[in-house]
Amino acid sequence: MLCPFCLSDDTHVYNTRPTKSAHQLWRRRRCLECGRHFTTYERVDMSFLQIGDQPYLRTRLYQSVLGCFAAAADQLRYVDDIVDQIETRLVRQPNTEIAKPTLITLTLETLQPVSQSAWLQYLAKYQPPQSEKALERAFKKHS
Ligand SMILES: [Zn+2]
Repeated sequence: MLCPFCLSDDTHVYNTRPTKSAHQLWRRRRCLECGRHFTTYERVDMSFLQIGDQPYLRTRLYQSVLGCFAAAADQLRYVDDIVDQIETRLVRQPNTEIAKPTLITLTLETLQPVSQSAWLQYLAKYQPPQSEKALERAFKKHS
């Protein structure tokens, strides 16, 4: 790992622990050249997953979830945790090829207990109910 300050590759890890959600490894490093400290994160590479006919991209999922929190800026801090939770559920699926509707359902189920407004935003964007009756049913099912 190169030091971000002086680009030396002579760095030393002096503290390692899992993050709060336990999906990442947090590492504190010190550069032996310039003496400055910095933090790195390590997470599992999920590129073995396929969503529909496309490779899984965390950034794509992250953006779709983030977009649902636009009206609730104070909840943005949840997005990383939510994406971690969805990834955990994706890995537990029986296949590495996952249908897009499955991803949408898992995302809705994960969002719902965290934020009703984000859940509704996501529902409207990715699984819009076809009628007012269907919308009512979706509300009843999730409340
Ligand atoms: Zn350095």
